[in-house]
Amino acid sequence: MKLILLGAPGAGKGTVAKMLTAIDGSVQISTGDILRGAVQAGTDLGKEAQGYMDRGDLVPDSLIMGIMEKRLQEPDCANGFLLDGFPRTIPQAEELKGLMAKLGIKLDMVVAIDVPRDVIFDRLCTRRTCENPKCQAIYNIKSMPSKKEGICDKCGSPIVQRADETEVAIGHRLDTYNEKTAPLAGFYEKEGMLRTITGTSSDVVVNAIKKELGL
Ligand code: ADP
Ligand code: ZN
Repeated sequence: MKLILLGAPGAGKGTVAKMLTAIDGSVQISTGDILRGAVQAGTDLGKEAQGYMDRGDLVPDSLIMGIMEKRLQEPDCANGFLLDGFPRTIPQAEELKGLMAKLGIKLDMVVAIDVPRDVIFDRLCTRRTCENPKCQAIYNIKSMPSKKEGICDKCGSPIVQRADETEVAIGHRLDTYNEKTAPLAGFYEKEGMLRTITGTSSDVVVNAIKKELGL
């Protein structure tokens, strides 16, 4: 499957993407994971992105488009992909449209995951992430704690609160989302690609997507 997952930070895009990869081997492409990996590794890309990310601002479109142009041409994308956290602005969506036309890629649909803001805020404040850049497993101190406090079940690395998951940065990320990313729903509606799914349970969202795709 070739999907774009839209939704506010904390709407569950990453969880849904991971569940979908298990269905048909499509790969999850999370620009947030790619950028955090680059920050940890101290690459030029990471150095450029870090300030924006820590403040909860978007990194410049040109940087993201460079990453995605390469990523979409890697062989593992041929089986399908789930775009998680990209596109995030109208210019990114427009450039992606051109890029896909150039590469001969056809999307199945764009899924907007709709979750109430108070649920989102609460989820983000209690979210914790494995600091190992190769793992980045997600936990929640309330609803999905690790077996051993502060230690990742999957790889044994420390689990931390992301720098952009303080209350101030979260508020800023949600405002940025409303201003820059929410308009993408209208963009894809016009393209006839949009399906909106309301639900706070990732299982419900995954089942709705499977049904839409006839799986
Ligand atoms: P979330 O969806 O939980 O906010 P992500 O992991 O998707 O977080 O992204 C973390 C940060 O990485 C964003 O706040 C932003 O700074 C940067 N980022 C990720 N994807 C993009 C993108 N497509 N365009 C611009 N910035 C991005
Ligand atoms: Zn881990």
